Amino acid sequence: MQERIKALAQSWLNEGIAIRRHLHQHPELSFQEKETSQFIAGKLEAYGIPFQGGWAGGTGIVALIEGRQPSDRVVALRADMDALPIQEANQVSYCSVNEGVMHACGHDVHTTCLLGAAYILQTLRESWSGKVKLLFQPGEELLPGGASLMIGEGALENPAPGGIFGQHVEPPLQAGKVGFRPGRYMASSDEIYLTIEGKGGHGAMPHQTVDPILIAAHLITGLQQVISRNTNPFLPAVLTFGHIASEGGATNIIPNTVKIKGTFRTLDESWRFEAHERIRKMARQLAESMGGHCECRIEVGYPVLDNDEALTMKARKQAEAYLGASNVVDLPQRLTSEDFAFYSQVLPACFYRLGVRRPDSDAVFPVHTNTFDVDESCLETGAGLMAWLAVADGV
Ligand code: ZN
Repeated sequence: MQERIKALAQSWLNEGIAIRRHLHQHPELSFQEKETSQFIAGKLEAYGIPFQGGWAGGTGIVALIEGRQPSDRVVALRADMDALPIQEANQVSYCSVNEGVMHACGHDVHTTCLLGAAYILQTLRESWSGKVKLLFQPGEELLPGGASLMIGEGALENPAPGGIFGQHVEPPLQAGKVGFRPGRYMASSDEIYLTIEGKGGHGAMPHQTVDPILIAAHLITGLQQVISRNTNPFLPAVLTFGHIASEGGATNIIPNTVKIKGTFRTLDESWRFEAHERIRKMARQLAESMGGHCECRIEVGYPVLDNDEALTMKARKQAEAYLGASNVVDLPQRLTSEDFAFYSQVLPACFYRLGVRRPDSDAVFPVHTNTFDVDESCLETGAGLMAWLAVADGV
C-alpha cells in the first residue's frame, strides 16, 4: 500500500504543481474563497469524489471517500483555503494576480495536498477500509475561524470521524521532512482592547487633568504582572500590546482618551479565562486609582491546539515508516495560534508541519511575508503522507 501511495504521489506531482500555482495565482481573502471553492469542486468532480459545498459561510466543502473494504473507521483530513491581505513581491510566473492578496501562509499548499491525498485515496479505494472525510475549510485567518463554523454546522457528524489530521507549511524545515509534537502544541489567542478615558487639558497644567497617557503607561507595565507574577512559571503565556494611540493630544496637549490593542496567549484553557479576569480587573482598578476609567474588551479567539498524544505518536511512527526516520523531526511548542485547534478540542487531532524549504539552500521565507514561497516538491510529501496517515494501520 505504501509503495502504491508513493508512486501515485510522484506521478501526481506535476498536476499538484499546476493546482498549487493556480491557487497561488488566484488567492482570496477569508470567507471570500468563491473561486477557490469552485476550483476545488471541479477537481473533486474530476476525481469522481462526492462532496457537498456551501459550508461555513458558503465556501467550505466536505467530501467523503469510501474504501471498498468494510470497516466503521472514519478519519478526517482538513485543509484551509484562505489567503492574506499582502501584496506579493515574488517575481514568479505564478505570482498573485489579485491586487493586495497573497497566499502567504501556504494555504494553497495545504489545499493542494488535500486534493492530492483525495486523488490517491480515491484511486486506491479498493485497497483500504473505512471512510475518509475531507474538510476544505475557509477563513482560518479571521475570527471566529472557519473551523468553528464547520464544527457548528455538523461537519464532524454523519459520519463522525474518530480522528482528524491537518498539516501546515514550515518554512525553516527542508522539503521532504515533516515535524510532530504530541500534546499542547499551539496557543490560545485572544484579542484585548483597552480604552482609557481621562480628562484632557493643557500640558502645562496636569493638575487640572486626568492624564490617560500616564495611565496607559502604568497599565502596560502593570499588566505584565499577569505574566510575571500570576502565571505559573512552568506555563508558557504571553501578553503583547502591539498598538497604542491617543485620540488627539500633542506636545502640550493632554488627550481625553488612549486606546491600546494586544493579544494574550497561553497553553492552558483554564488559565486562559482566569487571566482574562485578572487583566480586566487590574485594568479597571489601576485606571480608577489614578482618577480615570478603563474599559476592557476581550475578543475570545482560537483555543489551545492540543495534539492527541496517542494519535500523534502513532502518526509520527507511520510518518517514519513512510519518509524514513531521518525525515521526521520533533517540533517545539509555539505561541502562534491556528483554528485547527477547534477540532482538537472536540476529537482526537494531529496537526503536523510540512517542510517547504529548498533542500539546496539555507534561505528561509517566513509565512505572512510578501516573499513567502515553497519548494514545490513538498506537495508530493504532503499529499502522499496525508493519504498514508488516513489509511495506515494503527492510526
Ligand atoms: Zn496558516
